[in-house]
Amino acid sequence: ETPLLEVKNLETAFSIEGTYYNAVDNVSFNVKPRQIVGIVGESGCGKSVMSLSIMKLLPKGIGKIRSGEIHFDGVQLDKMSDKEINKIRGKDIAMIFQEPMTSLNPVFSIGFQLQEVLFNHMKISKKEARLKSIALLKSVGISRPEKIVDEYPHQLSGGMRQRVMIAMAIACQPKLLIADEPTTALDVTVQAQILDLLKEIQQVNDMSVILITHDLGVVAELCDEVIVMYAGKIVERTDVDTLFHDPKHPYTKLLMGAIPKMDEEVEVLSTIEGIVPSLKNMPKVGCKFAARCPQAMPECTSVSPVLAETDDGHEVSCLLYETSKPREGVQA
Ligand code: SF4
Ligand code: MG
Repeated sequence: ETPLLEVKNLETAFSIEGTYYNAVDNVSFNVKPRQIVGIVGESGCGKSVMSLSIMKLLPKGIGKIRSGEIHFDGVQLDKMSDKEINKIRGKDIAMIFQEPMTSLNPVFSIGFQLQEVLFNHMKISKKEARLKSIALLKSVGISRPEKIVDEYPHQLSGGMRQRVMIAMAIACQPKLLIADEPTTALDVTVQAQILDLLKEIQQVNDMSVILITHDLGVVAELCDEVIVMYAGKIVERTDVDTLFHDPKHPYTKLLMGAIPKMDEEVEVLSTIEGIVPSLKNMPKVGCKFAARCPQAMPECTSVSPVLAETDDGHEVSCLLYETSKPREGVQA
């Protein structure tokens, strides 16, 4: 099946004091129609930068795509002008964010904001837009949508607000939904409800979804395929069952150990020692995870691992799995 989205050798860089550093470093992946692909990793791993690159939402003058290609449904997004991409953004590709980043405007009613999305991409009357807004609110599980449509964001709970965001995202029936930490700001019960809703609307709308999260529990719930990112690179990629039954990369294994139980409020990432290196302090050679890796070997700081298939459809970037191949820079 032809992929809906194809990211090829993407390098996205950010400027720090005039020097550009790669926040996404030579990343390639595909999303097939109706597939849910999870992108996991701690904050600072390049997950969000990747989605901002796809949507052409990188902060101007700070972030830029250095090389690579992004193909979506027959067009090349990275080559498009702002005007062209505006027609696609919100219509064919929609995005939802973590609560604090939502684009809900506090001074406008829910209905007004939903209708804005509709007017941007469709030719419909005010009356139709209002009816469609109510139907959309209903479709995301909001009861009494006729009342909610006239309310303001502060009158709703966090979970309701995220439902409204989802309604806005699916308003124009996008082919691809990018959900960046969609449940992170919500409490556990509401999280589960929103995940169920995402699954449901994905099926009803036949959408592909890129789900960006630091939470492997969320991945297990929702995803078909998983990409694990560390320091701007893909370190492991496979289907969701394989990832949970046979994780290979030491980073993935550590993330697994960090999955909180649903009834416990655990600080998810505190169990992995150390932090993701900052862009400025990224090691230039060797494995970027070496400083934190419990399985690091002497050569890990001098030889850069390459993402390669270990088993059918299972890709890993770690020297532990490269033993059969000649290693560049290591003397026999
Ligand atoms: Fe750990 Fe070395 Fe593998 Fe990197 S290459 S993950 S440091 S074992
Ligand atoms: Mg992020």
